[in-house]
Formats: sequence, structure tokens, C-alpha cells
Amino acid sequence: MGVRLLIIATAVLALASSFAEASDPSPLQDFCVAVNDSKAAVFVNGKICKNPMEVDANDFLFRGLNKPGNTSNPLGSAVSPVNVNNLPGLNTLGISLARIDFEPYGLNPPHTHPRATEVLTVLEGTLYVGFVLSNPAPGMKNKLFTKVLNAGDVFVFPEGLIHFQFNIGHSKAIAFAGLSSQNPGVITIANAVFGSDPPISPNVLTKAFQVDKNVINYLQSQFWYNNNN
Ligand code: MN
Repeated sequence: MGVRLLIIATAVLALASSFAEASDPSPLQDFCVAVNDSKAAVFVNGKICKNPMEVDANDFLFRGLNKPGNTSNPLGSAVSPVNVNNLPGLNTLGISLARIDFEPYGLNPPHTHPRATEVLTVLEGTLYVGFVLSNPAPGMKNKLFTKVLNAGDVFVFPEGLIHFQFNIGHSKAIAFAGLSSQNPGVITIANAVFGSDPPISPNVLTKAFQVDKNVINYLQSQFWYNNNN
């Protein structure tokens, strides 16, 4: 009886853990340095591993995050990501980083990371930040959580939720974000909806946004700047 119970409990636990992946899959070895070769013939969930005998310290190094990104753009912000694409040693480790620079009144516009939770810390300046909850119950609205952050403040944006950061100060702002994926992805809402290639049918957007077709035509004709370098 005891043994059978143990086997059932183990099976249930194993099943539960396989359904409850909270971040990228766990590594099964010390490291799996990514081969960043778009022509590689093997496609896997992540990147294939470099021969461990050929791995050295440089595979785990990225330099230059002390330099601000170029914020001379319509949004007045720049995201400088450090993920598996420019730091191959991050492959399979479930983590990455970004530096975000803001001009006065610069905006990191509403966006989501489909694969990561983000924890943001402000080094300099004053940011108005927020995120919106998903799946409201019938009759309820999407709840918005916001905060004004100053240097030293830390705020977390739960995985997949739409969020933004706006510099409300008179000076530049700098923030660093940790992300719970080697490749968090970013969907900038306005760019994805109004700037997709090819465009979404205006009939779809007119009905979705409950506005005149001219408004949709205007929005779809705009240039939607991507502040993720
Ligand atoms: Mn973000």
C-alpha cells in the first residue's frame, strides 16, 4: 500500500512539474553555448550547443552595456537587450537582461514578452510604469496597476501581460530589466496591430476598435518605430 501510494504520488508530481514550466526548460548540463548560425540544418527548441571543447570564457561575455542606446527616435527610448542572440552562453539558462534608456518624456510603449516575466530596476530618473491584467471576469474591465518609480526602485511585470514605462522626469532615465527567458520576445502592441506585414484587413480593425475606417487607415499608414535594437 505504502509503495503503491509512493509510486502514484511520484507520477502525479512528475506530471504536475511537466505542466508547470514557469520559465525556459532547465539545462541538463553545465552549459550549452549557442551556435548562432541561422543556416544550421538542425532546428531545436532553442539553439544547438557548441562543442564544449571549443567553449571559452568569451562565450559567456557581453561588453558595452555601460553605453546608452540611441534614443534619437520618435519614442525617445532605446532598449538594448542582452539575450541568447548576442550572448550565446545564455542558451538553456532561462534568463536575459536589457538596458533601457529614456529621453525626458521618452516612452517604452505598451508591449508584452510572450516568454518572460520582467523585473525592472531604475538607476536614474523617474518612470511612470504599469501593466494591465488579462482575462477579466464577465462585466469587469482589464485592471491597470501603475507606479511612479525613482532611482533604486524595483517593479515586476508578470509574464505575458501588457506593460509600459514612461519617463515623466525632466532628465534622462536609465533602467535595467531582468527577464526570465533566454529569448523573451517582444510584441509592441501598436506595431503588431497597425504595422503588421502584410497589414491586417481594415475591416477587422475597424470592428475591433469600434472606430471609423479613416482612423484605421490613418493608423495603418503611420511608421511604427521599433525601439528594440
Ligand atoms: Mn518589457
